[in-house]
Amino acid sequence: MNEQIKVAVDGPAGAGKSTIAKAVAKRLGIFYVDTGAMYRAIALKTLRSNIPIDHEDEVGQMVQETEIVLDHSDARRVFCDGEDVTEAIRNPEVSRAVSKIAAYPIVRERLVQLQRREAERGAVIMDGRDIGTVVLPQADLKIFLTASPEERAYRRWLELYNSGKELSLDEVKQDMQRRDKQDSERAVAPLIPAADALILDTTGLSVQEIVDQIIKLTADL
Ligand code: C5P
Repeated sequence: MNEQIKVAVDGPAGAGKSTIAKAVAKRLGIFYVDTGAMYRAIALKTLRSNIPIDHEDEVGQMVQETEIVLDHSDARRVFCDGEDVTEAIRNPEVSRAVSKIAAYPIVRERLVQLQRREAERGAVIMDGRDIGTVVLPQADLKIFLTASPEERAYRRWLELYNSGKELSLDEVKQDMQRRDKQDSERAVAPLIPAADALILDTTGLSVQEIVDQIIKLTADL
């Protein structure tokens, strides 16, 4: 395997991107970069600062003054201006606000810059919505993960339930659909598979099966 390998994993919410990417990173001994966590950190800070989320200029100004650091050790914590926000960025309020903010070109410009810097640190697997198309268009391997809307909603519901957040399955499904629509229809870096991405439908597959498939693909690179 290429010692500087770059793997891009994109797809809609609940497709299994972070679970799969984390497991692949562990098996290969490479960095995992969760780009969604960076957008979430900006959304959290916006909500906490009482900046109305439709005030693009104010959000843009705030992004320039925000420091986001990802911890690459096993703990994989996310820090925003020095504060550990790993848990806070998973709140449903953040999930509801994030796609609006992620559509702002100024936010994307700054975060893409940070993400490319992370990728320069070495071999990496990065997940998000625009990794194969915008952030790392030269990635050695591009995977686009999908799953049926029912399965994606159920996975996300279970994840929330396990972390003590009890939402109804319907609520989760609706939030997810709204977010996917916003992510797919935005003007800048919309959620679409790169032309050279391998599309993997994870419906009914175990994490192990998908991870094994990806590991096999990286062996020849
Ligand atoms: O991956 P996750 O679901 O945590 O991402 C949260 C949101 O961040 C997405 O719904 C999307 O609006 C935004 N995002 C993005 N581009 C990325 C990663 C995430 O626009 N590369």
